[in-house]
Amino acid sequence: MKLNIVRRAEAPSVTEHSRLPQALAFAERGWYVFPCHWVSKGACSCGNPECGRHSGKHPLTDNGFNDATLDPTIVSQWWARWPRANIGIATGKSNLVVLDSDPEKGGDESLAEWKAQLEAVSTYVVSTGRRGRHRYFLRGHADVRTTIDLRPGIDVIADTGYVIAAGSSGLLQPYVCERDVPLAAVPLWLVEAVQQKATARGEGRVSDVWVAEAWPGVAKGNRNTMCTKLAGYLQHKQIPRNIREVMLLD
Ligand SMILES: [Zn+2]
Repeated sequence: MKLNIVRRAEAPSVTEHSRLPQALAFAERGWYVFPCHWVSKGACSCGNPECGRHSGKHPLTDNGFNDATLDPTIVSQWWARWPRANIGIATGKSNLVVLDSDPEKGGDESLAEWKAQLEAVSTYVVSTGRRGRHRYFLRGHADVRTTIDLRPGIDVIADTGYVIAAGSSGLLQPYVCERDVPLAAVPLWLVEAVQQKATARGEGRVSDVWVAEAWPGVAKGNRNTMCTKLAGYLQHKQIPRNIREVMLLD
């Protein structure tokens, strides 16, 4: 488990490319954005060599995806301060469901289960920094909760959490929009797969309770204590380690 207490960011240079226009464009389409660390010369901008897979993915603001906004003034202030900041999109507030596939963890093989369904749906797709894919859907009123390891190499980011947006820097390659088309509504087969997984795990609403409600309410000075307690609670509940890590990193 790693907590993001290191917040050193690179000083901007005059020649660098600012991600402000992309951040403003996403906010304008109703996607709540916030700034995250970025990848420069293969390393995370926070300066922690142990960032590893999380390089360029963790927030620059104190409350992470809970700080995400559509307000162009705030967005402009953030990217004036950190021009190269990667763009985080808070999926819950933005009414998005993102199907995240990671080929390094078997995501491509897992997607084969839904090959025909995926081919039948046209939606916005981003290739990710580790050569995976983010398929974006509109959540609408569907009951879809964030589900890590829906299948091997497949996560669903929905009511809580965030994704790194197109135009951001990644470890192996930049995040690039592959299909810039209007979003499809979240397909029923995906909603059902998420609900079946929740039932199989008997998870209830643990991620909602702890992350969406408890975490933002913890005063800044108490966060380390809260984190330790939270980690202990999750371990006690035998929540898989990868879920604990995602929850605490967010
Ligand atoms: Zn980092």
